[in-house]
Amino acid sequence: METRDTKPAGEMPSHFIRDIIDADQTSGKHGNRVHTRFPPEPNGYLHIGHAKSICLNFGLALQYGGLCNLRFDDTNPTKEEVEYVESIQEDVRWLGFDWEERLFYASDYFEQLYRFAEELIVNGKAYVCDLSAEEVRQLRGTLTEPGRESPYRDRPVEENLDLFRRMRAGEFEDGSRTLRARIDMSSPNLNMRDPVLYRILRAEHHRTGDAWCIYPMYDYAHPLSDALEKITHSVCTLEFEDHRPLYDWCLDNVSVPYKPQQIEFARLNMTYTVMSKRKLLRLVQEGRVSGWDDPRMPTIAGMRRRGYPPEAIRTFCERIGVAKVPSTVDFAFLEHCIREYLNRHAPRVMAVLEPLRVVLTNYPQEKIEWLEAENNPEDPSAGKRLLPFGRELFMEREDFMEDPPKKFYRLAPGREVRLKHAYIIRCDEAVKDPATGKVVELRCTADLESRGAEVPSGRSVKVTCHWVSAAHAVPAEVRLYEKLFLKENPESAEGGDFVENLNPDSLKVLEGCMVEPGLASAGPGRIFQFMRQGYFNVDAGSRADHPVFNRTVSLKDTWAKIAQKQASQ
Ligand code: ATP
Ligand code: MG
Repeated sequence: METRDTKPAGEMPSHFIRDIIDADQTSGKHGNRVHTRFPPEPNGYLHIGHAKSICLNFGLALQYGGLCNLRFDDTNPTKEEVEYVESIQEDVRWLGFDWEERLFYASDYFEQLYRFAEELIVNGKAYVCDLSAEEVRQLRGTLTEPGRESPYRDRPVEENLDLFRRMRAGEFEDGSRTLRARIDMSSPNLNMRDPVLYRILRAEHHRTGDAWCIYPMYDYAHPLSDALEKITHSVCTLEFEDHRPLYDWCLDNVSVPYKPQQIEFARLNMTYTVMSKRKLLRLVQEGRVSGWDDPRMPTIAGMRRRGYPPEAIRTFCERIGVAKVPSTVDFAFLEHCIREYLNRHAPRVMAVLEPLRVVLTNYPQEKIEWLEAENNPEDPSAGKRLLPFGRELFMEREDFMEDPPKKFYRLAPGREVRLKHAYIIRCDEAVKDPATGKVVELRCTADLESRGAEVPSGRSVKVTCHWVSAAHAVPAEVRLYEKLFLKENPESAEGGDFVENLNPDSLKVLEGCMVEPGLASAGPGRIFQFMRQGYFNVDAGSRADHPVFNRTVSLKDTWAKIAQKQASQ
């Protein structure tokens, strides 16, 4: 892996959160500490949006010499699973970040959170409410109308305490009572209208089992968990801006050991994809993709399987920046970042995706030459390898046309191309299957003087083609991916159900591709540039006797085109 691309704070482009922290460091707020956290709910796999949050939280800690915790916000036992807890840790580590010994769970704090709740009750700041969820909703009011107070709002402290303890003891049915904060039913902020802090729910929790039948709500558990971990800057996405007064209210009304500061930024949205875990789960459950790690998924597991390098994902997250204003990033920009990294790091190899047999009629039957080939022109330290060359080759079917237009510079009867690292060849004849009329073989002549030499004057050789030696090539399966969705915004209302916007051609499987012999032994995860075809990695399920490659990204940089167009407007 490349060394980390995080530079000292002074050299990083600034954004408003860095500005806030810089100001805090000047004023001495938070004792010049920076302690962030990444707080996923373990109810699905992480996606590229989470990667942004991970890079931001862990990145800030690295930059300012601080710490970042990994904390599972596991307050909703009905949707959470151990599988997700494990995948999240794997994904954060793979992205290149380390929480050291600071792995926490909100459920670790259930006892402490309960005690904080009793403290609220004792101080007249919370009450047990017997209204049903529906009744609570009815009394809540609207943005334009104030809410109405619960008839249970003025219960005496002793009664509240007794009822809350009995809620915990399991005396009441699910949903029959809640603990609510006693704030202000006429607050213009709906979140402040006596929000529910605890609900009764009999559900097996993946860590605490059946120890609890009351569970704290996110808006209550989150600030207090932050406080218990002495988080300085609690970075979250914009939809929590309206929750900040409640975040602060919780910190102000119980005896917390620390007062973190919540800062909101705009979440990452990306074209041609969906990013809600609920929707991604649906794709998995309905079998519309092969799993959470399907290479077409915007999940970190999917991107890993597809061959996106973690370094390139980190660069992407840094370049898109951090802002308060929501925006949508072009999927092509992510691909651009992947391509840019792989251009520097991926060895070049040759693989023929749709093979057409080529016979060099003037090349001796038994002769094999081992030709030297550089592994990466962008990186001389990548070295060289030897490629076998013989009388029979495979070339790309689309590099031949029997009756080509003028501008087609590849093979056609009488025309010449150069073979990469090898000779100039001329096509003499296309052999057809008499039954189907399909071209099954080209008969060509090699100019045996032309290897490593300039093109002799007077000859038109404009294209260099890739090839593999037929006697040595290894058959392989290659998977080509297109966008998972056809629409830029698959969730837009006019598209109806987002699954209707799935691209039916997002996966194309090619069997019988022919790859360089050295690729048969490349282990899963290795990544290459298949000359002229794109970047490909060895799939996690690839085997030496049946190699499988995924196209990570093609070579065509649509982002560069978009950027050019925008610049000229
Ligand atoms: P989703 O909406 O995809 O289900 P979530 O917000 O419910 O995501 P959490 O597990 O709660 O998922 O998210 C963990 C952290 O990642 C939170 O701090 C959240 O704000 C952040 N996060 C989630 N989605 C994005 C995104 N698209 N861009 C940036 N940060 C995100
Ligand atoms: Mg969430």
